[in-house]
Amino acid sequence: MARYIFITGGVVSSLGKGLASAALGALLQARGFSVRLRKLDPYLNVDPGTMSPFEHGEVFVTDDGAETDLDLGHYERFTGVPARMTDSVSSGRIYSNVLEKERRGDYLGKTIQVVPHVTNEIKEFLTIGQDEVDFMLCEIGGTVGDIEGLPFFEAIRQFSHDQPRGWCIFMHLTLLPYLAASGELKTKPTQHSVKELQSIGIAPDILVCRSEHPIPEKEREKIALFCNVHKDAVVAAYDLKSIYEAPLAYHREGLDQAVLDAFQISPAPRPDLSVWQDVADRIYNTDGQVSIAIVGKYVQLEDAYKSIKEALTHGGMSNRVRVNVEWVDAEVFDTEDPARHLEGFHAILVPGGFGERGTEGKIKAAQFARERKIPYMGICLGMQLAVIEAARNVAGIATAGSEEFDQETGAKRFEPVVYHLKEWVQGSAKVKRKVTDDKGGTMRLGAYNATLTEGSRVADIYGTTSIEERHRHRYEVDTKYREKLEECGLHFSGMSPDGRLPEIVEWADHPWFIGVQFHPELKSKPFAPHPLFDDFVRAAVETSRLV
Ligand code: GLN
Repeated sequence: MARYIFITGGVVSSLGKGLASAALGALLQARGFSVRLRKLDPYLNVDPGTMSPFEHGEVFVTDDGAETDLDLGHYERFTGVPARMTDSVSSGRIYSNVLEKERRGDYLGKTIQVVPHVTNEIKEFLTIGQDEVDFMLCEIGGTVGDIEGLPFFEAIRQFSHDQPRGWCIFMHLTLLPYLAASGELKTKPTQHSVKELQSIGIAPDILVCRSEHPIPEKEREKIALFCNVHKDAVVAAYDLKSIYEAPLAYHREGLDQAVLDAFQISPAPRPDLSVWQDVADRIYNTDGQVSIAIVGKYVQLEDAYKSIKEALTHGGMSNRVRVNVEWVDAEVFDTEDPARHLEGFHAILVPGGFGERGTEGKIKAAQFARERKIPYMGICLGMQLAVIEAARNVAGIATAGSEEFDQETGAKRFEPVVYHLKEWVQGSAKVKRKVTDDKGGTMRLGAYNATLTEGSRVADIYGTTSIEERHRHRYEVDTKYREKLEECGLHFSGMSPDGRLPEIVEWADHPWFIGVQFHPELKSKPFAPHPLFDDFVRAAVETSRLV
């Protein structure tokens, strides 16, 4: 049976709860324990799949096809444990399950209430897979006191009583603001936040305090006294130059020891931190740097492309270079020459996206990369647009476009080189979709296999001809145009195993031009960079040597 660690936050949002949870997961693994991390989000969307990246940042997709919170990406990047559909839940999902059961008559005529029906549903979710790991780390989204979060807090309070004594602990993240005028760190907001938690029946065992300044011993004692925690359980979280330093930093501050003490696990197994020491070494001891442009639509919010940014960092780590990522707004190219904005970059990446806005600009970016022989990686929409670019500018299909854009406007302006998927194979089952289906959860989602052409660049990069990658798309390149495009030099070097869906395209006579229908960034880890990102950054390094 698993021991449970509940991670909550107070004072302000964006304190890095997800990162702290992920780093703690990594530290427990370093001490030989198995872990699983979970996220409970109070919002009412059933999942983040339909939310704009501007609202919520990137949607992280699991192997089993769930569209989840980007914190699950942190969890995977730090622990290497593939997240599952059952590692993420929202109020929306919980309420929708409860209402479904009510309609079915499962509650036998009872009045349905937040306590116990909603809280029971949450508790049931918490127990899934509890026999598989030593520690289950569950992060509650939002901050304590939020109206929407209350059922979750109530559920974890009850849950801790249902478990054997000492098998559940609470870790609370807070902020110690610094008042420059008096040169002091203030503990009052932390005290208030803990009071709020206590008023709903939860007493934290560990306090993680974010602070921009060193926390003096005296303040630590004060927090311990007023918040009713042990002094060693007041753990400092300082700003870091790289998030990948977090496991080492939290270990230095005694977080993992405090957690094991709270569970009274003694003697504590010694940690092996060599993986994280190597990761830190690769980040801080670099030889040179490259600049990579991400040409996208959601450039105002970097979290919208979180995993891509991280995967590029990983690629930098394996090549021992610093990767400077710059965000370029694709819409700028509607009116301006892309060369002006893209010259000087050592590689260009066009990420995934939805809708027509910005696509003409991204097509120009793909053209620029192809013609100037700059390394180009197109991910999902970025691949589809690279194919459209090839169709228009090389194969002579002047009106080539995607059905996605015509569906938006209801006009028929494009020859659909990229079309709406109606049917595909998942495992041994056939999946069918209509254009009029609901938007939520209906894409081709999760892990699918692809077969790579022997001798292709991608087969060489992966070192195999059979791969499995995560997908999240509704549209697909039409094989009708394959022959024509291949004659022009754009090879379809990765296909679905049944040969019907193009998964990868690559230009033959280009230093590095690869488009992938899937999202390789979701599987990259700092200690195991994804081969495509590793090789893409290597190609960028080569370009940088030429200039
Ligand atoms: N909008 C495109 C599709 O649905 C691409 C999706 C993506 O980039 N994730 O196929």
